[in-house]
Amino acid sequence: MTRKLASIQEVRNVIKHPNADAIEIAQVEGWQCISKLGEFKPGDLGVYFEIDSFVPASDERFAFLEKNFVSFEDYRGARIKTIRLRGELSQGLILPLSAFPEVTDTEIGTDLTELLGVIKWEKSMPSFAEAKGNFPSFIEKTDQERVQNLRKMDRTGTWERTEKLDGTSMTTYLVDGEFGVCSRNYDLLETADSSTWVTVRRLDIENRLRTLGKNIALQGELMGPKIQENRYKLLEYTYFVYDVYDIDAKRKMLPHERKEVMDALNSMPGEKIKEVPFIGFVTLPEGEDWIDVLLKDAEGQSLLNNSTIREGDVFKHTEKNVSFKAISNKFLLKYDE
Ligand code: AMP
Ligand code: MN
Repeated sequence: MTRKLASIQEVRNVIKHPNADAIEIAQVEGWQCISKLGEFKPGDLGVYFEIDSFVPASDERFAFLEKNFVSFEDYRGARIKTIRLRGELSQGLILPLSAFPEVTDTEIGTDLTELLGVIKWEKSMPSFAEAKGNFPSFIEKTDQERVQNLRKMDRTGTWERTEKLDGTSMTTYLVDGEFGVCSRNYDLLETADSSTWVTVRRLDIENRLRTLGKNIALQGELMGPKIQENRYKLLEYTYFVYDVYDIDAKRKMLPHERKEVMDALNSMPGEKIKEVPFIGFVTLPEGEDWIDVLLKDAEGQSLLNNSTIREGDVFKHTEKNVSFKAISNKFLLKYDE
């Protein structure tokens, strides 16, 4: 399934821009997004394009983005990214629903991603190894929903808050005796010099998973030299686990179940397998402005290396399979190019 990047949304509120007269600030879900003066009033419906939407140049309605047109994969178009306009944060693009006569629906949330030819922009990743196949269908991919899309979420309960690391996703699995290593989208062939497999061999993950004797996958972030410019200045490749996936039960383990597995793996001989930095078990803020509070809290220095800023936080419910990310806007403005 493709991610929902373009959808029908309601403009919740419109605020005056403090430094500009021809534009104003529209609030959509948990986002704020600059719009033309007078284009929206509270309650209006629009088509909202989330950040990292790649919108097609072939559609006249995006012609005003022409100076941002680039090529991505086989397409030409513009990436919608986090920007500041006259000092105010703008995330995403909101256009009037009336500009899209092909949209017959009016229900809030209706997914228009495919209809409007929008795809997800991705930073091109260095290829670490050759693929032997696609990411296995018996494991869930590691994507996290953005908190700005979860305004109506049930916030009760205790959540595990960890630092979101800006590396590259790596999954290691054992299923029916077969061991494998995957990047975000591929099952990787083993080579002698790929950073993924070298790290997995150094940590002896295959033997440890075999000793555990379960159909299981470790999911984590691979960090180190040449990955995302190694902002954290790690001297060697390091694997930070954030999830354990139970392949037979077809679900991610809860934080305390993950901890049991990690303890068992780390009681075996060899270098300890690390986890993402733990910040705390927390409750979520109660007020209306809870999303903004989490976004502010997501700004700060990394626990891995105090000289670089954090990408943000990931929150996982301690009793059910719900999780989301709060990405620091400071990070988006500085590093998300
Ligand atoms: P994004 O990097 O924006 O695509 O967000 C989702 C990705 O964050 C996942 O695929 C993981 O690779 C990565 N990630 C980094 N740190 C964490 C963490 N603490 N918990 C969960 N996922 C994480
Ligand atoms: Mn990432």
